[in-house]
Amino acid sequence: MSVLTFHDVSLTCGHEVTNVPDTWAVGTEVMCFRGHEDSHEVGRVRIVRDRPSVAEVRTRTIDTEDGDARYRVDGYGGIAFYVYRVPDVWVPYTYLEVDEDGDEYLVTSDDGDWLPDTDGTRVLVVMVGDDTEHEVDVSDLYPITDDDYCAGCGQIGCRAYG
Ligand SMILES: [Zn+2]
Ligand SMILES: [Zn+2]
Repeated sequence: MSVLTFHDVSLTCGHEVTNVPDTWAVGTEVMCFRGHEDSHEVGRVRIVRDRPSVAEVRTRTIDTEDGDARYRVDGYGGIAFYVYRVPDVWVPYTYLEVDEDGDEYLVTSDDGDWLPDTDGTRVLVVMVGDDTEHEVDVSDLYPITDDDYCAGCGQIGCRAYG
């Protein structure tokens, strides 16, 4: 894993949807289940009178190996983060065993190694100005620029460090 691309859209109803399939283009009709003034509930189903469509598509590119990039992380409020590394996963050793009939089968050992999970979509991120690691999904990262956050406290929007 290094460079991953995500698509976020604005809908004609005014709502935003993040990490949508890349088949969604401007004009694609979609369902929106957020609250709408023109929707009403019938039993457990919400009926939306006008089906919205995609008004704008934005592409988000995340390079998980770029330690200088800064992000806002969904669910972590207005703090800037950077990607520290990918988490480690336990990879057991395997070996071939041959039984008395000559059939080979793969046996998993109790021994193994902790190796970087480069095929996953999880990353360890660290808040600017802190050293605690948080494990999050790459799709929850939103790139920000150096002007968007404070180099001192890490808060997005703070201007203490000009
Ligand atoms: Zn909507
Ligand atoms: Zn600050």
